[in-house]
Amino acid sequence: MHSSHYQLRCLGCGTLYSDSEIGFFLNCEHQHEPSLLRSSYSRRTLTVRSAEQGLFRFADWLPVRRTSPNAPGPIVFRSLQLGARIGLDNLFIIFNGYWPERRAYMTTCSFKELEAYSVLGRIPDGESRSLVVASAGNTGRAFLQVASEQGVPVVVVVPEFALPHLWITVPLHPSVRIVVLSGNSDYYDAIKLADLIAGMDGCFAEGGARNIARRDGMGTTMLEAAVSIGRIPQHYVQAVGSGTGGIAAWEMMERLLADGSYGDTPGRLHLVQNAPFSLMTDSWATGSAGLAPLDERVAREQIRELHAAVLSNRHPPYSIRGGVRDVLTQSDGRMYSVTNRDALEAGRLFADLEGCDLDPAAEVALAGLIQSVRNGAIGHGEVTALNVTGGGMNNIERTGRKRYLKPDIIFDADELKGRRDESEIRELVESRMREVMKGVQI
Ligand SMILES: *Cc1c(COP(=O)(O)O)cnc(C)c1O
Repeated sequence: MHSSHYQLRCLGCGTLYSDSEIGFFLNCEHQHEPSLLRSSYSRRTLTVRSAEQGLFRFADWLPVRRTSPNAPGPIVFRSLQLGARIGLDNLFIIFNGYWPERRAYMTTCSFKELEAYSVLGRIPDGESRSLVVASAGNTGRAFLQVASEQGVPVVVVVPEFALPHLWITVPLHPSVRIVVLSGNSDYYDAIKLADLIAGMDGCFAEGGARNIARRDGMGTTMLEAAVSIGRIPQHYVQAVGSGTGGIAAWEMMERLLADGSYGDTPGRLHLVQNAPFSLMTDSWATGSAGLAPLDERVAREQIRELHAAVLSNRHPPYSIRGGVRDVLTQSDGRMYSVTNRDALEAGRLFADLEGCDLDPAAEVALAGLIQSVRNGAIGHGEVTALNVTGGGMNNIERTGRKRYLKPDIIFDADELKGRRDESEIRELVESRMREVMKGVQI
């Protein structure tokens, strides 16, 4: 598949870039306020490709050079039981995870698998360097699985707490590496370590929210919802840590509006965080352009208390042009914060009424939805899409296919912090990583 079916447009200055010339473009080259690039597809109408599988049925609106057979996708169904219980007549569930009875086959059990397929599909042919991805757990698991299936060299960098979440259901490919940051460290520390590693020869950065393939891959949840329901939902509800999925949902809504076949009104974003770490919710409440000030020590403690540890980015893409703040403004959105206890209760409700276990983050989203119905932000008859961003771990457990993975190297966060300056840290990381990367090639 040729990659000229899209260009990248800078949301700051409007410059258009061709991805096929350079490949894997993450940032605008001009000097201005930080701005996301957004994919601009040559096809304005969405054609669902029946010859493709899963998310690749939407390949016209994915920045990929190739698709893969047997890729999974989100599934959408109308919830009767849960909807009735929480007071919604038109509740649709976008389910991402493993739930064979519903034909949901994401074996790594979260919507990060969508981004893994899309990002790996964007890598130019002939690229031999390793893609470096930071993760709080779910992204890492998804990339380890899909990269192993496809034989793509990747380096996954996680904080120690995420290690138990690194398992896959296929043999680990020999060109894949796992880096763990131990000690007093969180997701953002892992992002910084990944940045250092990505700067090495033989490596390149996945880019997080700045990667159009990550966002558009996640955005297929909105496309599946619109196609299944027959219209853009009036409300879209999702748990957020970085907010990338929320940005992605908005971007796809804009494309659907331009298509014109799914209604002429955008839906409202309802984004939910897990208390006590609710940085974006707090920031949105202040109304100011930037993130609310954050005491790093306090934030680290709050993050340790989270039921949904993936929702823990201390530096989310909030104020950047096209980021979370902009999409909330444009969609007249709402932000929520829910307690661990509310999330657990919501998870039990879903399991009882719909019959599948949820990822903790999806429990947070459902608790936020319940809050929004209670406070009247979502009306009883309004068409609402709840993005269940992960679920079905118990179903995968029963298959007996889970293989837990071991790190190739463990960096000690306190040892890194003890170095005199950035360049000493870099030297240490690079020299150890050079050992770890030996033998990586495709
Ligand atoms: C990553 C993740 C989220 C949050 O996604 P954002 O990037 O913040 O939009 C929510 N749920 C699950 C299961 C996740 O893995």
